[in-house]
Amino acid sequence: MNKKLISLVIPIYNEESNVPLLYKSLMNNLSKLNQYKFEIILINDGSQDKSLEIISKLIQEDQRVKLIDFSRNFGKEAATSAGCHLAKGNVVITMDADLQHPPELIQELIAKWREGHEVVYTVRKENQGASFTKKITSQIYWWIFNKISSVTSEPHSTDFRLMDRMVIETFKKLPERERLFRGLIDWMGYRRAKIYFTAPERHSGKVAYSYGKLFHLAINSITAFSLLPLRFAGYFGTFITVSSFLFFLSMLITRWFINPLLFTALAFVIVANTFLIGIVLISLGFIALYIARIHDEVIGRPLYIIRKKTNFNE
Ligand code: UDP
Ligand code: MG
Repeated sequence: MNKKLISLVIPIYNEESNVPLLYKSLMNNLSKLNQYKFEIILINDGSQDKSLEIISKLIQEDQRVKLIDFSRNFGKEAATSAGCHLAKGNVVITMDADLQHPPELIQELIAKWREGHEVVYTVRKENQGASFTKKITSQIYWWIFNKISSVTSEPHSTDFRLMDRMVIETFKKLPERERLFRGLIDWMGYRRAKIYFTAPERHSGKVAYSYGKLFHLAINSITAFSLLPLRFAGYFGTFITVSSFLFFLSMLITRWFINPLLFTALAFVIVANTFLIGIVLISLGFIALYIARIHDEVIGRPLYIIRKKTNFNE
């Protein structure tokens, strides 16, 4: 009987001390699953440390380990996408390299797939390593995202997921550049199952996502799946126009009937102007967000550039 192939897709950015441990842990866990074949696709996303050297050794020793070496850092979303594009497995499992996505769960993910689910995603119960501010910002992000976007994502669901070949084939047809992998998979639907897990602390190294990057990702995921910010500019503009008009009227009435000296003519001009400038700026800001997206999509630059692929030809 032909063994089913399972592809593991793992983006790597400065993970020199995690890669050997990850590999060891994977070997331990995969050996319990010898009714399947595995390929381990490591995407080196422009690491500046020794990650590439370490992976290069691995791919010589173990043909199942495959390398996609990017020409520079393109970000985790692009790296994950590249892995999915080149994966050949009957299922693809995406996970992080820092051991925050415990390889022990692979078995459970596959079991859910065997039950007939096409997407199996994992939901973090608590993140022991996360700081208070990170927890709060992540709560706010999920709340806003689910309130205003056209897809619903389970709060605290992670990129540690399993996708059936069918899902991956659909994923390959999605052309957009700025992407949130998780969001796209959620948007596609399919038969889904979830698994809860407790995320341990990042094994070693720094979190590669700064608050700046996370903010960028959050904004992108919102403009990708919601038109509310665009409409919001309209609502807000209407609100400001109406209320400033009313305020203006009340100033007029005060001046005529109560105290003619309370507001000078200049005050009227300033009030009117401030509100109008506010409207214009806010609208422009939101429109700019969308234009930036259109711009990105229209240029149609590739999502990533691969310098070298190794172990991909059987
Ligand atoms: N990563 C990547 N490119 C980047 C940043 C991160 O490939 O520009 C990888 C990183 O090596 C890790 C995964 O994405 O395997 C998750 O990164 P991290 O642990 O920094 O993020 P978090 O745990 O906060 O989601
Ligand atoms: Mg991590």
